[in-house]
Amino acid sequence: MGKVYLIGAGPGDPELLTLKAARLLARADVVLHDALVSREVLEVISNAAEVIDVGKRAGRKLLTQEEINALLVSYAQKGEIVVRLKGGDPSIFGRAGEEIESLRKAGIEYEIVPGITAALGAAAAAGISLTDRRVASQILLTTFSRGTDGSVMDWGCVTSTTTLVLYMPGADYTEVSQRLLEGGLPVDLPCVIVSNAASSQQQLRWSSVGRLASEEKLPAPALLIVGRVASREIEELRSAFWDGEGKTLPPQHLSVS
Ligand code: SAH
Repeated sequence: MGKVYLIGAGPGDPELLTLKAARLLARADVVLHDALVSREVLEVISNAAEVIDVGKRAGRKLLTQEEINALLVSYAQKGEIVVRLKGGDPSIFGRAGEEIESLRKAGIEYEIVPGITAALGAAAAAGISLTDRRVASQILLTTFSRGTDGSVMDWGCVTSTTTLVLYMPGADYTEVSQRLLEGGLPVDLPCVIVSNAASSQQQLRWSSVGRLASEEKLPAPALLIVGRVASREIEELRSAFWDGEGKTLPPQHLSVS
């Protein structure tokens, strides 16, 4: 029996791969990767390995999830070292759950090798701290384009000290802006769009929940960091945005001591 490694490729820059990921990519027999994995990371894969692109291209799926699950199982049953390579971290919006279930059912050994998820790559690109203790106490990694299940966002846990990281914000920032406003986020709450974090095409756009609606779309993959940590100006960071009226929070909220 072989083994399947579910490996996080990080946000793009091959230097952000873990040593373990790089070592396994150099000795894999077969690598099944997503479209999101950068060319530079693919170059780390052993020349002897069979490399299969299972990703989506412009919305067109190359292989269905069931076909990918079946491939992982059949390669491992042939005794191969199989790498399932996913952008960012495999466990964050990466459909790892379905693959793990298939592997468990087939009795195949697997191991998860974590990667740097896009939220962290994007925060680094923006040069901000997601949990700046003066204004944030929690991070919510979320999305509202979950496709078929039609679920609505549950904003119950979002507070004035939540940093929201929105994966897959979709093509329409007007809709994103509207959903955030409907969720009770103030119109002047800062946000930053980060496109192609940790790659040579990296782009940032500093905005606010209200202004977002009229921002020009940045190339995919992109995500949105929303919250007071997403301010460029230290003054902006220190003033309150939660009620949308520029009222300042009580001093204890801003204390740095
Ligand atoms: N497993 C991945 C996420 C897959 S969902 C991870 O942990 O990062 C795909 C979404 O991730 C994209 O729509 C985008 O919102 C985000 N994303 C992935 N790579 C990105 C990058 N380099 N820069 C900005 N956003 C990225």
